[in-house]
Amino acid sequence: MSKYLRKTIETLKPYEAGEQPSRGSTVIKLNTNENPYPPSPNVRRALRTFSPIALKRYPEPLADTFREAAAKVFGVRPEMIIAGNGSDDIINIAIRAFVDVGERIAYPVPTYSLYSVLADIQQAQTFEVPFDDSFDVPKGLAEAQAKLTFVANPNAPTGTFIRPEKIEQLARKTKGIVAVDEAYADFADANCLELAKRLPNVLVLRTLSKSYSLAGLRFGFAIGQPRLIEDMNKVKDSYNCDALAITLAARAIEDQAYLAKTVARIRRQRQVLTRGLISLGFSVLPSQANFLWATIHSPPAKQIYLELKRRGILVRYFDHPGLTSGLRISVGSSKDNRSLIKALASIV
Ligand code: PMP
Repeated sequence: MSKYLRKTIETLKPYEAGEQPSRGSTVIKLNTNENPYPPSPNVRRALRTFSPIALKRYPEPLADTFREAAAKVFGVRPEMIIAGNGSDDIINIAIRAFVDVGERIAYPVPTYSLYSVLADIQQAQTFEVPFDDSFDVPKGLAEAQAKLTFVANPNAPTGTFIRPEKIEQLARKTKGIVAVDEAYADFADANCLELAKRLPNVLVLRTLSKSYSLAGLRFGFAIGQPRLIEDMNKVKDSYNCDALAITLAARAIEDQAYLAKTVARIRRQRQVLTRGLISLGFSVLPSQANFLWATIHSPPAKQIYLELKRRGILVRYFDHPGLTSGLRISVGSSKDNRSLIKALASIV
């Protein structure tokens, strides 16, 4: 630590990303909810024809090429979309645009741990409301009357899902903004896009990292009323998405047929993997995402995680209170899922 560090950051616990093994490694990677299938062939074609000359210039500040493509897909105006360097960038922008120092950010827990880290950096007050066993909107969340309320839906790391009607009730009860983090919504039966179109205080956050197989591209976006998007545009970096990313993201979002195909495969594998884990004695929460939250009494989850790692299979273990009895397992290809079940059968 240098003597120059802000006091607030001295005690900050930074976000812990999942392990990323070096390129070329042969591990079976089921730890960061990436997609086992390649991105749309449109992306490959666009990469082949992308001219390096285009990189001489700064990119479109508002990622208009992407906004126009996405606007068509989602039936909104381009002014209702903001693009970011991953949806993490969008989460950060929303916090900086809507929450002043000391003001409140609320969210159910357990959930995506980045919310609290970014709130701490902003010196906002965090208000955490535990889920009950139903994993529905917890009592007390609307009553928090936060400036900004995050609901990851489907939630991470549980994979559980809250019906849009319940999110609408929450949004109508709170005076602040409800940001529905729909990083995994393409794998779910429903989503809150219609709420973002209708209500003045709902933002829907999406990413190309999961369902579009583009985690390495770093591209996310939010949809909401033009006024909200305008507010967020005021605080974002001038060029927060690079020219190559904007082009490839636009091509990927246009290929909804490919998205539907890969999502259907993952949803089928989600069922297969769930059954496999249950047959080995795990309890698995019903998941609407591309990962499962699996718990077991013994052996301890940490031991299973380490044993799997030794066998070249990465899953996610969280050394956090309340999460130590479970593993978050991304749904992989059928081959990877079979390898996982086989390895687990020899461990548990
Ligand atoms: N929201 C949730 C709930 C997530 O799990 C993730 C993935 N870590 C993100 C947002 C961020 O995704 P990205 O920045 O890759 O778009």
